Amino acid sequence: METAARTAPAAVIVAIDGPAGTGKSSTSKAVAAKLGLGYLDTGAQYRAITWWMVTNGIDVEDAVAVADVAGKPTIVSGTDPAAPTITVDGTDVSAPIRTQEVTSRVSAVSAVPEVRSVITELQRTIAAEAPRGIVVEGRDIGTTVLPDADVKIFLTASPEVRAARRSGELKGKEAADLAATQAALAKRDALDSGRETSPLAKADDAVEVDTSELTLDQVIECVVTLVEEKRTAA
Ligand code: C5P
Repeated sequence: METAARTAPAAVIVAIDGPAGTGKSSTSKAVAAKLGLGYLDTGAQYRAITWWMVTNGIDVEDAVAVADVAGKPTIVSGTDPAAPTITVDGTDVSAPIRTQEVTSRVSAVSAVPEVRSVITELQRTIAAEAPRGIVVEGRDIGTTVLPDADVKIFLTASPEVRAARRSGELKGKEAADLAATQAALAKRDALDSGRETSPLAKADDAVEVDTSELTLDQVIECVVTLVEEKRTAA
């Protein structure tokens, strides 16, 4: 009789990168849930540290000031794909990290190398401790954080589609018009792709999936198939 250890599938690490509005979060959560894996939203971690900087009166445009305090907040991410959580020093910040105030400042904070090294270390620890494996979504997961990930996906979509999706997610007075949303996304992309330390980039061995013409279910199916193929081949 085979032992449980021999029959249980090995932990699988899935890296899903790409810019905002490509369906990264919805896809990553659904893939993790379907495959029984953990889920980590690394953008939420950069948003959380940005929220802490803003709340503590740190000038986010002052990279030296940001670097000086990068190690101070304690960020904890819950990795259940059905109910992901994020706290800073014990405070639930899942709502405040989505405000315009944080969104407009997060690229400046995430460009600071000291911030990246603190958050990258946290991400690697979480991935290493996931018992069955994990889906990690972000900008630099396949290139820098987990270069040995078993499956790497890079999601893209046209600027128009991305802006439309993002506008649909925003509510109430934060709902900007389409053109303004598209401009804000383009600005964030330029900052995230242009920074020196681990910019938004597709890993050479990542599978690029253009989601512009695909439904969410089709994207999820595509990623699940890639992971299962990899598991079968292993
Ligand atoms: O994914 P989301 O749009 O919430 O990410 C917010 C910001 O966090 C990005 O615009 C980027 O500045 C930063 N980020 C990053 N590296 C990651 C994930 C997010 O720099 N791996």
